[in-house]
Amino acid sequence: MGKVYVVVGAGFRGFCDALQLIKEPGAKIYMVDREPFFGGISCSGKVRDFSVDKGVHMFDGITRELADNVTEIMDGRVRTIDFVSVSAFNGHLTEGFSLPDLSSLPDDTKTRITAELKLLAADAGKGGAPVPRNLRGLFEARYGATAGGIFAGIFQSIYHIDAKLVQPDAISKTSLGRLKHLDDPLMLALKASDPFLDAVLAARRQALGKVDELVSIYPDTGEAMRGWCVRARKWLEDRGVTMCLGQNIESIESTGDKVRLKTGAHTIDANRIIWTNDNTQALACLLGFDFDTRDLVSNTPMLFATLITRAEHIKDFTYLQNFDPEGKTYRTACAGIYSGQIDADGNSFVTCECPTPIDSERWNNPGQAHHAIWQECKALGIVSPDAELADHAVLRLPCTFKVAKLGYDEEIRAFEAEVGRRMRALIFRDVKPFFRRDIYLDSLRVRDLANA
Ligand SMILES: Cc1cc2nc3c(=O)[nH]c(=O)nc-3n(C[C@H](O)[C@H](O)[C@H](O)COP(=O)(O)OP(=O)(O)OC[C@H]3O[C@@H](n4cnc5c(N)ncnc54)[C@H](O)[C@@H]3O)c2cc1C
Repeated sequence: MGKVYVVVGAGFRGFCDALQLIKEPGAKIYMVDREPFFGGISCSGKVRDFSVDKGVHMFDGITRELADNVTEIMDGRVRTIDFVSVSAFNGHLTEGFSLPDLSSLPDDTKTRITAELKLLAADAGKGGAPVPRNLRGLFEARYGATAGGIFAGIFQSIYHIDAKLVQPDAISKTSLGRLKHLDDPLMLALKASDPFLDAVLAARRQALGKVDELVSIYPDTGEAMRGWCVRARKWLEDRGVTMCLGQNIESIESTGDKVRLKTGAHTIDANRIIWTNDNTQALACLLGFDFDTRDLVSNTPMLFATLITRAEHIKDFTYLQNFDPEGKTYRTACAGIYSGQIDADGNSFVTCECPTPIDSERWNNPGQAHHAIWQECKALGIVSPDAELADHAVLRLPCTFKVAKLGYDEEIRAFEAEVGRRMRALIFRDVKPFFRRDIYLDSLRVRDLANA
């Protein structure tokens, strides 16, 4: 008789852990989720008859091994995503680039940025630079005071929190990981002049060519990421995983060397519970102590607009990232086109993630936001000037890119220690890995953790 595992959370993290655990001979796996569907944030919603991902969700930059698994689950029906991105800053568009391009700034500003970068490079050669205490410090340590200040302003406009108040590792959830402030040939020359500059500077993707062996794929069934969610659930069920979806956990208690988890419909005696979501408050409550990291996380609320128009009026590209602090939209994707969804009337859709503080006027009146968002799509060239809006939906997403505020790491370590003290059979890992590639790589250690 093999071991019994309960995976709490049927999002991508839960999927990856289950994928590893089913490899253990004789193992029996249950997946529990309070939502009635599989896939968590990856599962697309419905707008009219279209399947719409809540944001830009892709298997981008994943390992060949994970790509093979996704392809098997999809019966081969995946398409390779060849990112065609555009970025906007300071009223300028840069084709083939998904970071802010500061090259339209005045020459004296760019000269100052270059001079500051060279000083940083010279200091980096000496070593011993202090570790930045917050994201603003990290921007300045990487890009200098001038460009660092501009990036902090962009961060504030998208994430609605001062970069001084968040941990430096928040950079991994942004598109602010490299700097470009000159034209491509000048950027390439500057990068080549010093290893520090090579690490922090960027030039357009095409100019660099293929940089690694990672793969970017997307479901090709016309159902967006929902297509993967539905099939991944069945694929796991076919391998003996029992899905307990739409069920709240009522209790978790130790029973000798096992642990008993009860939902309204199931009582499961397991060897290990693997907690795969960041709901620390719920876990603490189940284990009988108070803990809440909500004040230490900034959630980046967004209005999420789906704008339906004729397919031929939508620009043929993947997405545009708007880094203009005055912009209403942040990331706009031609999601209907790359997911292969064009209806009988020839309509498809774009999706726009629009950072919006909770309780702001726009947040409280989402129904009135679409007109301004549509006009911005036209101004940015995402849809043609004569495009007409056939239909739209605007959702409120209170949580998108969660970034850790200062102090989060200390609190979460204390939480991990307390969970370990109270219930050895429960495995909680802080949900630091964010992109699918990193989540998958992190899951490769779950069997070792479960058998420790
Ligand atoms: C807008 C957006 C776009 C993204 N785009 C990409 C991308 O293109 N490529 C990429 O690699 N990554 C992307 N990411 C990151 C990646 O999608 C996420 O990191 C990943 O999907 C998160 O998976 P998860 O399982 O941790 O969380 P979730 O998908 O949120 O799943 C957590 C699950 O736990 C359940 N749960 C929570 N509390 C409880 C409880 N008490 N009891 C039972 N169940 C519970 C929830 O219902 C949920 O189903 C994106 C993220 C966002 C926010």
